[in-house]
This record gives sequence, structure tokens and C-alpha cells, in this order.
Amino acid sequence: MDDILIIGSGPAGYTAAIYAARAGRSTKIITGPQPGGQLIKMSLLENYSGFSDPISGLALMDQMKQQAEKMGVIIVSDIIKSVDFSKSPFRCTGELNTTYESKTLIIATGANAKWLGIPGEDKYLGAGVSACAVCDGFFFRNKNVAVVGGGNTAVEEAMYLTNFAQSVVLVHRGDKLRAEQIMQKRLEKNPKVEIMWNTRVVNIFGDGNKVTELLLTSTRNNMEIRKAIDGVFVAIGHQPATSIFEGQLEVDENGYIVTNKANSATSIPGIFAAGDVCNPNYRQAIVSAGQGCVAALDADRFLSGERQEYSQQCKEQNYLR
Ligand code: NDP
Repeated sequence: MDDILIIGSGPAGYTAAIYAARAGRSTKIITGPQPGGQLIKMSLLENYSGFSDPISGLALMDQMKQQAEKMGVIIVSDIIKSVDFSKSPFRCTGELNTTYESKTLIIATGANAKWLGIPGEDKYLGAGVSACAVCDGFFFRNKNVAVVGGGNTAVEEAMYLTNFAQSVVLVHRGDKLRAEQIMQKRLEKNPKVEIMWNTRVVNIFGDGNKVTELLLTSTRNNMEIRKAIDGVFVAIGHQPATSIFEGQLEVDENGYIVTNKANSATSIPGIFAAGDVCNPNYRQAIVSAGQGCVAALDADRFLSGERQEYSQQCKEQNYLR
């Protein structure tokens, strides 16, 4: 049995692991389906403090992994499929039926890309439909691609795709972007980029093997437009990876784990949460890393016998992200 079991290996998970092991706790991290988390798809990070030159998401996560290993963290490549939080020790069972027992748990499972749910999206997933420009952009050298969304993710994806594609059309249902001003300016200056405002993608067509065309409608007058395209990148936000905790742990109406105002405690004493799985507002690697640190300190204090204090705090303060 471990002192601290961490589910998820993004910046929240690894930072929690580094702090937990450094506090002398036996610590195991279960990597989940995408070791390194969402960040491994980020080409270059310019805003993770401590790096004067941009660092790739992959390189940053590799550094975190190595640091955790040096601290004595056991890193297990497995995907948790079911959990039993009804009693302590908590039990988490992986894909190959391995059961992991732990005195405390830190959930850092992150969030996954949302999809449009329109015809053609599933059919052409991996054949022109993607949610990751860094993963798939290379296949669209000199092609024409679309990006759907108006947030930071969409703008980043569009900018990244200009490195390969001949043209990039950003399709946004609204008339202004949510993305940061600095990113919007960069996008608008890029000659390869066109923005289609007030427009929705309603159908993705292909030739049976790959995407060839989009059907778009205007959100203003429902006018339909067909656009020849080789690829479409969906960048419309994320949903938290919490389905395995359903019915066992308190989550909000969007499925995000509810944590205590003052710390990372969840509705079950001894279980803590960090990163995008409990925080939809920031989605920043550095924020997740900070929250991972908080969760590890909380778990360590809990193990040191401050259980009563935590339970009391949870009662006194409404759960609030
Ligand atoms: P956001 O929620 O910020 O944006 C989602 C976008 O998708 C919105 O423009 C929204 O439109 C649009 N959208 C949502 N659902 C649909 C739909 N069904 N059809 C069409 N369009 C849809 O998500 P992001 O992933 O962009 O960003 C999430 C958070 O992560 C933000 O806080 C962001 O700042 C942060 N982030 C920061 C980065 C950075 O700093 N480097 C990089 C990436 C993300 P509408 O505007 O009309 O609602």
C-alpha cells in the first residue's frame, strides 16, 4: 500500500509526485492514457517561468518525469478503470485488473478535448479530423485546413498549422474571439489565416478515405456555404476526465471535481484533486503544477494526522473551486 497514489501524469500529477516523494512518502503515479498529459501536444511554451528560451511541452514533461524518478517516485504505466472510495485504504483498479491501494489519493486526470458531435466527425477522425495540431499538423503540408473555435486553443492550433498548411481558416460561431489579445494580433497578421465569423461547421464530408469538404452555416442568417478542405481541427474546449469517479466523489454540473476553498480537499477526506480536473478557468501548466504542489502538501499533512482539521475545514467552508 502506498502513502500517496497519484492518478494522472500531467504537470499537476508530476509536481504532486515530486513534492510527495520529497516529503518522504511512498508515492506512486499512474500515468493514464497519455503519459505527460495534454502538454506533450504543445509545441513550444513561452510562459512557463524558469525557461528563458521556449521549451517544448514534451521536453518539459520529460524533465518532470526524470525529476520524479530521481526523487524515488514509482511511475506505473496503467489506466485506472474503476475506483472504490467507500473506505480507506482507497482502491483503484487498472486496465489489466491490477489493484492499487493507498492511504491518500491525488486525482490529476486533467481534461479531454470536446468534439462537435456533427456528421462526419467520428467517421473521419484520424483521416482529416483532429483535435491536436501538434500531433497531426505535419500531415497537412501545403494543404488547406480549418480550425473550429475562438479561444486560446483554437488560435494556437491555427498559428501552429500555418507552419505546414497552405491556408488556415478559423471558423468561429461568434463575432469576437476569446483568445488573448496578443495571440489574436499574431493570428490576424498571418497572411495564411482567414477568419470566418458567425459561422458553424455542420457537416464534414469526405471521399470515404479522407476529409474533402465542410458544410458551414451562418449563425446570422442560416446561409449555407460549402468549403473544400483537407483537414479540420476541433478546438472548442475540454471536459474533465472524471467519469470513473461518478457517484463516489462530488463533481459540479460540468463534471469538474469540487474542491475546498482553502485547499485541494475533495468531498472525501484523504482524496485531493489538482489541475484541470478540478479547475476549468485557467488551464495553464504552471497553475496545474502549483495545484499539484498544494495537493501533495495537503496529502502529507493529512497523513501526519491532520485529518480532523481537514474534515472540519470541509464542513465549515462550502466547496468551491
Ligand atoms: P475556451 O472555452 O476558452 O474556448 C472555446 C471556444 O470554442 C469558444 O470560442 C467557443 O465559442 C467555441 N465553442 C465551444 N463550443 C462550441 C461548439 N459546439 N461549436 C462551435 N464553437 C464552440 O476553450 P480553450 O480550449 O480555447 O481554452 C480554455 C482555457 O485554457 C482558457 O482559459 C484559455 O485561456 C486557456 N488556454 C491557454 C493557453 C495559453 O495561454 N497558451 C493555450 C490554450 C488554452 P464562444 O466564444 O462563442 O463561446
